[in-house]
Amino acid sequence: MEGHARSADVRIEKYGDSENSEILDIDLSNPDPIPETGIARVGQLMRSGRLHRYGEESGDELDVLELEKEFAAYLGTQYCVAVNSCGSSLFLALKCAGVRSGDKVLLNAFTLAPVPGAVAHCGADPVLVEITQDYVIDTADLRRKASSSNAKVLLLSHMRGHIADMSKIVTICNEFDLTLVEDCAHTMGAGWNGRLTGMFGAAGGFSTQSFKHINSGEGGLLVTQDPDIAAQAILYSGSYMLYHQHGARPDDSVFERWRSKIPNFSMRMSNHAAAMLRPQIPLLVQRAKKWNALYEELENRLENIPGIQLPNRPKAEEFIGSSIQFSLKGLTVSQVSAFLTTCEQRGVFLKWFGNRDAAGFTSTHEHWKFMANSPEVPNTDDVLESLVDMRIPLSAVKTEMAAIGDVITSTFSEVRTAN
Ligand SMILES: *Cc1c(COP(=O)(O)O)cnc(C)c1O
Repeated sequence: MEGHARSADVRIEKYGDSENSEILDIDLSNPDPIPETGIARVGQLMRSGRLHRYGEESGDELDVLELEKEFAAYLGTQYCVAVNSCGSSLFLALKCAGVRSGDKVLLNAFTLAPVPGAVAHCGADPVLVEITQDYVIDTADLRRKASSSNAKVLLLSHMRGHIADMSKIVTICNEFDLTLVEDCAHTMGAGWNGRLTGMFGAAGGFSTQSFKHINSGEGGLLVTQDPDIAAQAILYSGSYMLYHQHGARPDDSVFERWRSKIPNFSMRMSNHAAAMLRPQIPLLVQRAKKWNALYEELENRLENIPGIQLPNRPKAEEFIGSSIQFSLKGLTVSQVSAFLTTCEQRGVFLKWFGNRDAAGFTSTHEHWKFMANSPEVPNTDDVLESLVDMRIPLSAVKTEMAAIGDVITSTFSEVRTAN
């Protein structure tokens, strides 16, 4: 992601005498290519110039409309609105759920910058909720803050694909009358106890940015079962009076309620983004299998290494291992630094949530100075300080995962024993 120009092939070179001194050549930031049918369709659209999602002639082929239908059917939801990013979908979901300037929105403290960004975009203030050692929202702290904060909405981020006990979350939301919005940027196709994420609350937002489960460079999908949220989101997204050209939309009567009350924020998805995405939806199931096999391979290598702590993932959590996180226990900050540097020298680029400065895609609540209240989330800070993160590219193979595991475990033991 930082422009490492390595090839995707495994190339393992010995750089020293010792057995474990290998340099791996795996580009962990490799995004997934667009299927050929998508490329062909984008070419057609480019030649015709019809790149905008709405057409003015009947008979126009509307790729975004078809994508909305297909994604709604895939998820089993009634309404889907395609937009220009997941961040936009979350912002719109909050707006449509009634969040207004000065409101408080509960949010787990371990998330990505666009998520508090979506809250700030509404003029609202995030109230950060602690996470547990397993990287999911701490339901005890959620209860505390739900009763003390006056917030009416919980924006739950399934950060890096970690899914909290959703039956507990839904119970708490009902108890405190909280509207639930799910950030599913890393959980497209993942679920809890047989139900897909995005289907638990009032609305869900998905990302189609290059490093998520389907890739169109940029893009987002808002899903909901609520006709009023769907109609508002369509109008906000910038539909003009062309909202009939939406594939998974409510009846005209619902638009009559909102038409002239909703400003146009111009957050549409383009036709070519949808054309790239459509052939990727049927691939989600096999991608999930591949990711989980790669994840398991690496997890097996890291398991049972004293000092490397993997999260507990209950059976009900039907996650997709498109990235892996683990905690380094018993290391000083400078040992963690040495660990990361040495891993990188050996070809394994890991990210660290304990960084004092925001780096690459990785930042933490301490870097989000736009928030009104500087939050105290000491338990989360403890977790983030030792939290290491690695993306798993779909282009990887199992032997590469095993080799990465060996680099991580041998480097960890070297750093731990050195002083
Ligand atoms: C990537 C990501 C987002 C934002 O997605 P965009 O499409 O880039 O706006 C939101 N939440 C999480 C957890 C993410 O990883």
